[in-house]
Amino acid sequence: MLVYILISAVLLSLLIGGFCVFFDQAVLTRRGTIYRIKSAEKKIALTFDDGPSPEWTPKILDELKDSNIKATFFLIGYHVQKYPDIARRIVAEGHEVGNHGYAHSVMFYYTPAEIEEEIKYTEHVIREITGVTTKIFRPPKAWLQKVIKEKIKSMGYSIILWSLNSKDWVMFNHKNIAKYLSSNIRNGDILLFHDSGNVTRTEGGKRTQTVKCISLLAKMLREKGYEFVTTKELING
Ligand SMILES: [Zn+2]
Repeated sequence: MLVYILISAVLLSLLIGGFCVFFDQAVLTRRGTIYRIKSAEKKIALTFDDGPSPEWTPKILDELKDSNIKATFFLIGYHVQKYPDIARRIVAEGHEVGNHGYAHSVMFYYTPAEIEEEIKYTEHVIREITGVTTKIFRPPKAWLQKVIKEKIKSMGYSIILWSLNSKDWVMFNHKNIAKYLSSNIRNGDILLFHDSGNVTRTEGGKRTQTVKCISLLAKMLREKGYEFVTTKELING
């Protein structure tokens, strides 16, 4: 009996794991958000979630500098407080910063009032530490329902999701990530990467493939004529 329970548990985890690897849940919650700008121009935006990370964000910033790319970082408030110098470096190097909540809690379980408090507090933390007031928000794991979207937008925020997911947390080889993204790229795409964390947590993780992917992707997409911009530049055209 125990064996059957164990086998069922393993099969169920494989099924859930496979679902997360091959399916992008953000397609279910896109309505009313900005996930791609159907621009005629060959512009795309790289976005990095869950930082700052003392280990990975500096490496990613170095790569972005070498490739002459300005990106957008959706910061976790708690990480900004913990690693203020790295948050300031992101801004000093000309990247855009966005709000990714204070504790990376899934918005599904919040009341609108709790959402407001969390977003405003994170906005305050980012402003105090970096001097930037951000009005773009990305919900952790993309989960959010209509009433929450309306609440966030009523606070003057744009909700930014993505149209192409690198799935870099799975740790695919960087060449495969770059090839997948390059063969699926369209004008106005917003690409999702992470500069911190792994499957179960938002700190630490191993972002070596993400770091390696940047210069290769820059080369592949520039050969196709694409220009890298921040989400703000993408939205403003
Ligand atoms: Zn996240």
